Amino acid sequence: MFENTQFMSSARIHNYQEPLAIDNTSKPKVYGEEILVRVGAAGLCHSDLHLINGEWKDVIPLKLPKTPGHEIAGWIEEVGDSVPESAQMKEGDLVAVFGGWGCGICIYCKSGDEQLCNFPRWPGLSDYDGGYSEYIMVPTYRFLIKVDKQLTTNSYNIRPEELAPLTDAGLTPYRAIKKIRHLLGPGKSIAIFGIGGLGSYAIQYAKILGQSSTVIALDRTEEKLQLAEKFGADHVVNVSKLQNIRSEITSKISEGKGTGVDVVIDCVGADATIEDSCKILNKGGSIVVVGLFGSQIKIPLVRAVLQEYQAYGSLWGNYSELREVIELAKTGKINHSIQKFPLNEINEAIQLLKNGKIVGRGVIIP
Ligand SMILES: [Zn+2]
Ligand SMILES: [Zn+2]
Repeated sequence: MFENTQFMSSARIHNYQEPLAIDNTSKPKVYGEEILVRVGAAGLCHSDLHLINGEWKDVIPLKLPKTPGHEIAGWIEEVGDSVPESAQMKEGDLVAVFGGWGCGICIYCKSGDEQLCNFPRWPGLSDYDGGYSEYIMVPTYRFLIKVDKQLTTNSYNIRPEELAPLTDAGLTPYRAIKKIRHLLGPGKSIAIFGIGGLGSYAIQYAKILGQSSTVIALDRTEEKLQLAEKFGADHVVNVSKLQNIRSEITSKISEGKGTGVDVVIDCVGADATIEDSCKILNKGGSIVVVGLFGSQIKIPLVRAVLQEYQAYGSLWGNYSELREVIELAKTGKINHSIQKFPLNEINEAIQLLKNGKIVGRGVIIP
């Protein structure tokens, strides 16, 4: 029994393009302002696939073995001795781990966008081990958001498996939609391309923050489109069988009068989805790319200039935005589509994600 308190199970990359190994690793000790979190849930992200596959090894060099997992929620297990009283963090508190571990001092950190830090660190994507483990060491209490229990009867007590995906899948589209929110309103329309983990939240934010805009879901899988409909999409379009995506969209939203959409949030980011996104834009339309499947954003020059398109990239979200997402979820207004897997089935879960078989977010419960 004594030994169990010194060790923990972690799913780790030993070699790229190989299944993760479930290892017995030593449980970290905390010092200073560090906090040890007992992982309640860690979300499976497409970024993990790129990482495990070795596609990012030049941009994000990792010292292997490494525990991935950057969407994390759990309970405080141990608090370092210089965490101030004012942080009000104690053992047993439910917390979400904010993933953009910035330096705290560069211009991006100081402006509040730590996920854009000049010296970035992320759990499971840098020198720090991530959440596919029983415990995770968080370098400072400042990267945690404490989730208070809801005390009124009609509020919602969020669970770790719902909280974990909010730190990335639920955060990234939130920031993306906030960027273009001023373009939405009655008579306007927004399309969400790709109803995976991110898209399932994007649909809901488009409804909540879109000020009566028409919300359209685009995907290749019927099951995912059904989820989009359940989560509030006004129209769903299966793009796998289309001859002409623009005429399909205009027939849905303007009875064929030729109106396209004002904004596309591309949660896939493949060359083909970006191309399709441009085909359905209205003049002055905007595309926000958050998915990372392709290699470049190619937009036809003449159309881009004559029709005044705008293209944005949007990376993750900042601490305040995560706090807003969690506040929104605490009202019970956000639906979650979660598929849970124990840590020892992580490789099966990764395979399902790879094959597009997870509807919503896959979550590892260590
Ligand atoms: Zn991610
Ligand atoms: Zn910084």
